[in-house]
Amino acid sequence: MPPPSNFLIVGAGFSGAVLARELASKADCKILVIDERTHVAGNCHTERDSATGIMLHVYGPHIFNTNNLRVWEYVNRFDRFRPFLNRVKACTSRGIFSLPINLHTINQFFGRTFSPAEAKSFVESLGDKTIVEPRNFEEQALKTIGRDLYETFFAGYTRKQWGCDPGELPPSILKRLPIRFNYDDNYYDTKYQGIPERGYTAVIQALLEHPSIEVQTGRLYRRGEEAGRFDHVFYTGSLDAYFDYSLGRLGYRTATFERIDSRGDYQGNPVINYPDASIPWTRIHEHKHFAPWEQHELTVAFREYSKETEKADLPFYPKRLGQDRKLLLEYRLMAETLKGVAFLGRLATYRYMDMEKVVEEALEFSELFLENWRQGTSIPVFANLSHYPD
Ligand code: UDP
Repeated sequence: MPPPSNFLIVGAGFSGAVLARELASKADCKILVIDERTHVAGNCHTERDSATGIMLHVYGPHIFNTNNLRVWEYVNRFDRFRPFLNRVKACTSRGIFSLPINLHTINQFFGRTFSPAEAKSFVESLGDKTIVEPRNFEEQALKTIGRDLYETFFAGYTRKQWGCDPGELPPSILKRLPIRFNYDDNYYDTKYQGIPERGYTAVIQALLEHPSIEVQTGRLYRRGEEAGRFDHVFYTGSLDAYFDYSLGRLGYRTATFERIDSRGDYQGNPVINYPDASIPWTRIHEHKHFAPWEQHELTVAFREYSKETEKADLPFYPKRLGQDRKLLLEYRLMAETLKGVAFLGRLATYRYMDMEKVVEEALEFSELFLENWRQGTSIPVFANLSHYPD
């Protein structure tokens, strides 16, 4: 009998945890998962607030949503995901509106009583007909909803969120948000939506609970430390950090949070966005509303601010601007020359991936890896990047 394989997984977020679980349960191996933070679960980490007992989404709200039944059933094996629909409001100088833009938003904003068909042709008439193939976020918005809605709901928010002109961002970012001509105010279009009853960190801990998996938190990875000790490394940290930023830094946005303590109900909704450019925060989230099945007398909310990631900050959102894409290709080429290492997840592939995509990718990649590993054929350095937006 050959000895079990030794695998090192860098990063204990969804990517690393799903991969660890899959490898541990399907192969004869020992797995060490390390994470530089003092907790597992990466940016979806949740913890109970000591002052209020409320479950906090420490790095900002996370609502799991997917159309993929396999992914949904998979995550539900590790905790019960309670139904949760995200109904977001926008607080603007022109009033409070419902998001994503839907029939109620349109009727309220324009003071009308349109039917779905009337609203659709009205909004179409607002669109800029001179734009045929939108080249960026702003053009995409002007073409589909016109200037008034764009300026009120998107221009200021997007400038604050991304720290650049919407004309510099790809149209794909706007395409994340639907525009609806009915009264459906559910933020997501997906079939399965929920939040784990015991929080995301409990889900990740349950994924990692396996006799073949050892977890070490508060442990920084040093490239090459695996030599002679591990048969393969799976890296889920940021790609530029792996290469010690030798070609320069990829652009990321990060978020900071300002805590507001109160009693009862602070804002009456889990998330309220503030699209006006004159307000410095992007949104306020009140965390007890993410667990409506719990009762709490006190409440805690956070004003969220977006800023450029500096050296000491955690990277959140990949910016993917022109120079970032160039740099990304160079780093990818460097990565492709490596042996014995694979890159996956949001940070290591520098893509704007939701949790469900991260889980899907880790499931697919574990299958691909094990097939090649068993057959002794060459193992891809990246998961199938074409499956997800670049
Ligand atoms: N956005 C906006 N106004 C809003 C909400 C979103 O302009 O009230 C834009 C913004 O550029 C954001 C993008 O739409 O980055 C996608 O929004 P989404 O809610 O998907 O962002 P995420 O879930 O990543 O925070």
